[in-house]
Amino acid sequence: MNLILLGMPASGKGTQSQLLINKQKFAHISMGDIVRDNINNQTKSGLQAKKYLQEGKLVPDSLIISMIEVYLETHKYKNIIWDGFPRNIAQNTMLNDILAKRNQKVDHIIYLKVKKSLIYKRILGRKICPKCQYTYNTIFNPPKKANICDVEGSKLIFRKDDNLKMIKVRIKEYNAKTKPLVKYYQKQNLLTSINSNQDSKIVFQEICRLLK
Ligand code: ADP
Repeated sequence: MNLILLGMPASGKGTQSQLLINKQKFAHISMGDIVRDNINNQTKSGLQAKKYLQEGKLVPDSLIISMIEVYLETHKYKNIIWDGFPRNIAQNTMLNDILAKRNQKVDHIIYLKVKKSLIYKRILGRKICPKCQYTYNTIFNPPKKANICDVEGSKLIFRKDDNLKMIKVRIKEYNAKTKPLVKYYQKQNLLTSINSNQDSKIVFQEICRLLK
């Protein structure tokens, strides 16, 4: 099964992916994590992508596709949650081509709809584990012990792009490039919209109901 999670930055894509992979056998392909890994490992694509990520902008499609291709060479999954890819109409075509080669298709596209005021609260309170990438929120989803990852015991960190200035750029990028993709799916009746202003557990229940 291929499931696409779509939504603004901090709409809950990462959180819902974590809940889903705890429940059933899904591979989680987080494009943001792949981009960050490429940057940390200083791959050719990563070196070119760095400045875009640092500015809160989307990385060019040519770099995204080469990162995905390299990633998929070593990861042959069947059930995938696509988190953060596709983010524009061209990337949607890329995904369909990738899946067609594997005799697969997109099964569900879930749009996590969230109001802007909540985005700021979620992003500014977001902290991640540098080891396992698990995402916490100091208000909505705190770790058991303040500032420490429940699983790894590592000290949690803020993401460099989770600051006020960059949130504004990321929302602008979303509105310019990803919103047209949402409209495109909506027109074709491919999208299931879920109210992601609700508590993450309720959002999760709605997703599970849909996947049943
Ligand atoms: P968020 O969903 O909160 O914006 P992500 O971790 O998914 O965070 O992405 C972080 C950054 O990685 C983006 O701002 C962008 O620079 C880059 N990125 C991730 N996915 C894509 C994509 N599909 N296309 C282009 N750039 C991407």
